[in-house]
Amino acid sequence: MFDNLSDKLDKAFHILKGHGKITEVNVADTLKEVRRALLDADVNFKIAKDFTARVKDKAIGQDVLTTLQPGQLLVKLVKDELTELMGGDVAGVNLSGNPTVILMSGLQGSGKTTFSGKLANYLKTKKNKKPLLVACDIYRPAAINQLHVVGDQIGVEVYSEPENKNPVEIAQNAIKHAKSNGFNVVIVDTAGRLAVDQEMMDEIARVHKAIQPQETLFVVDSMTGQDAVNTAKAFNDILNFDGVILTKLDGDTRGGAALSIKSIVNKPIKFVGTGEKMEAIDVFYPERMAERILGMGDVVSLVERAQEQFDEEEARKLQKKIAKNEFGFDDFLTQIQQVKKMGNMKDLVGMIPGASKAMKDVEIEDDAFKHIEAIIYSMTPGERSKPAIIDVKRKARIAKGSGTKIEQVNQLMKQFDQMSKMMKMMQGPGGKNLMKMMGG
Ligand code: GDP
Repeated sequence: MFDNLSDKLDKAFHILKGHGKITEVNVADTLKEVRRALLDADVNFKIAKDFTARVKDKAIGQDVLTTLQPGQLLVKLVKDELTELMGGDVAGVNLSGNPTVILMSGLQGSGKTTFSGKLANYLKTKKNKKPLLVACDIYRPAAINQLHVVGDQIGVEVYSEPENKNPVEIAQNAIKHAKSNGFNVVIVDTAGRLAVDQEMMDEIARVHKAIQPQETLFVVDSMTGQDAVNTAKAFNDILNFDGVILTKLDGDTRGGAALSIKSIVNKPIKFVGTGEKMEAIDVFYPERMAERILGMGDVVSLVERAQEQFDEEEARKLQKKIAKNEFGFDDFLTQIQQVKKMGNMKDLVGMIPGASKAMKDVEIEDDAFKHIEAIIYSMTPGERSKPAIIDVKRKARIAKGSGTKIEQVNQLMKQFDQMSKMMKMMQGPGGKNLMKMMGG
């Protein structure tokens, strides 16, 4: 995420580190590079210029040159400005209606349908809501089907009227249906076009007027940079929407959209989409994002994700197994699956302070556990529960079955062995101290 921008900002701050003494000249040089980094990230020229001007003013105000660590202070000023640029505080969704009506808007392909599903899933699983998804795309039957597929996947009902060609009516009927069937959130997915056109704008304006949503959200593909900002402006002029959803942040986005949109439409980014799966949705925290961009990581989000996946019941069971020396490869597999649910590896590494930079040139596979899982799946149930029985002959068979090399099987066995020993140690007599040492 925003790798290029992070890289360039890091280089900009290097200008300061390279000099024994910090002068007004090299602060100016640094800020020039910061501005260049923003422009390269496809941030609008005026926004980038104002940005560095504000940092410079603050730097002068706080007398950066005479502080003990001028470099760090400058990084902090840049972080604060980046946070402001992306919206300052975190913005929630207004769920006060009964039912709450949420209207989704945006161009075709922006990720509207996918996001409607993600939001429904989020509200259902995290906020205990009973959402109804509504298909209002009357032009593309495939779009209606797509929403039904998404709905099935997350166990959320989808309301559609394939024969009806009036989106206003469909949306109104859906709200009636929601009221009489106990749904408390109605998410209306609308038709998009490839580019802004009058007909589409008129249609969404009509739907908007008729259903008076509590939340109108504008969905935009973050890969589209400056275009994203222009589209946002066009939609905002018509809908005066409440918030922005930035999708495809997992891709190779330069960051321009995330950094410019707030300044142009003055609406907060509320959520981001970070993948095609239904779980790939994150609340947008401007400060955490700024920290990530500056390579400071995002430990808070990392811990939160871990907590979300943490199941106390499972943890107790696991502890018992370890105590009885029964920890096997099936448990190992469960652990891997929990880590995987936290997100893709690249994303997770980006949340560890400094790790992005350190691992910049390391190719991180999207599915880093693919081989490990293949090896475990090639073991018999007996081998999984009693790894000690895996001899050379069995190893060869497992390697063949999983399409890996025998060295890879050996390596996994070794890692597993070390892990089991460590877990055993933590449970032993000295374990309590060890746990305490680790903050447990
Ligand atoms: P719509 O036309 O606006 O409804 O867009 P869709 O929801 O059909 O999404 C268009 C494409 O983008 C689909 O292939 C989605 O799987 C993909 N997509 C949507 N959101 C994301 C995301 O956050 N990350 C990635 N990588 N792909 C996404």
